[in-house]
Amino acid sequence: MAAPTHPTAAHVAGGGGILDLTQAERWCTDNGLSERHLLSVYRHLFRRDGEFTPDALHSAAELPRGKADELCSRFSGGVATSRVVQRVPSEGGLKLVVELASGHRVETVLILHDHESSGKSRCTVCVSSQVGCARACSFCATGTMGLLSNLGGAEILEQVWHARNEVPAGYAVRNVVFMGMGEPLDNFDELLAALRGLTHQALFDLSAKHLTVSTVGASPDKIRRLADEAPRVRLALSLHSATLPLRKELIPSATSMPQLTAALDYHARATRCGLMVEYLLIDAVNDRASDADALAAFCAERAAAAAVSATGEGLAALSRKEARAATGYVNLIPFNPTEAGALHGYATPSDEAVGRFHARLRDEHGVNALVRWTSAVGRDANGACGQLVV
Ligand code: SAH
Repeated sequence: MAAPTHPTAAHVAGGGGILDLTQAERWCTDNGLSERHLLSVYRHLFRRDGEFTPDALHSAAELPRGKADELCSRFSGGVATSRVVQRVPSEGGLKLVVELASGHRVETVLILHDHESSGKSRCTVCVSSQVGCARACSFCATGTMGLLSNLGGAEILEQVWHARNEVPAGYAVRNVVFMGMGEPLDNFDELLAALRGLTHQALFDLSAKHLTVSTVGASPDKIRRLADEAPRVRLALSLHSATLPLRKELIPSATSMPQLTAALDYHARATRCGLMVEYLLIDAVNDRASDADALAAFCAERAAAAAVSATGEGLAALSRKEARAATGYVNLIPFNPTEAGALHGYATPSDEAVGRFHARLRDEHGVNALVRWTSAVGRDANGACGQLVV
């Protein structure tokens, strides 16, 4: 892909976009605008497709004329300081290449779902949180880039803004998953800023239950902080192996299992929500029967730990709904080919091998497991899980 282009005018110091909630709030306080003014600016932008001009803010958002001028010149980047420079459609989705004001590029993937029973058409947006990634997982394309930059919270939000504009007619953005480029917990403060904007009623107004942060779990303390600071947001752990030596081969930054599991159990108890485990299946690497057994044992331990109530009474003390929520589930992701993976000889298992692994987990161990065949959505456009690299 092309090298980064030159920074655009939107990147000049003091520019930036209005989706930077903290900056916008600060500016309003310093300039005599109330919180109500700012909320009406956001309501206008989100209802009317972002006409961020002094005229529109004056008439539609009822800002005093002079303040509307000043606000527009302070946030001269408008709603989005980034822009979509490429659209790659694929079966069931669309990959966007988004160029940031810095000239760096990231990828955002839209996954479209049709719910035949309800007749509703929904879109899940898979956002990037970093340009590249420092974690260098052996199978992942993004890891080969190294970490080039963190995204600002507003730049993460802008990806969802672009998705809203690009989504086919009739589809509504409903879920956001932090499963694009980067390790979200390595960019923690900006992650929190993005989560705030996503759930803010005057902005994206999404339910926190529909937001999922995915992590390799290299920093257990950040998992605990996420539980404390964003307790309704879902957590997904990229596990890929339940035994440390193999996990370390796949994820060099993997931490000790006891530290990781203590943080996961803390998260599950604090949020009353079971863990979503992502498990990449690589042919003859982590797809043996013994791997399924180890994964099942890992899940059983998490479910038991999550079910312990504040009074320490265990699963029996929970309502059926709570017990089901505490149990969590596993997404099995057949490996999508990458150059990084090819260096290690990794290949996608056959559908039969995936089916065998799934059956062992589900039928012999009673684990809630699903095969995410949709993780291959975009494989033809290199926009599938783990194939994101620019
Ligand atoms: N760093 C975070 C967020 C990225 S999520 C994390 O790893 O969880 C990307 C998801 O796609 C993760 O579950 C990751 O393990 C998975 N993935 C990475 N490379 C893949 C590949 N080649 N094929 C299929 N899934 C892959």
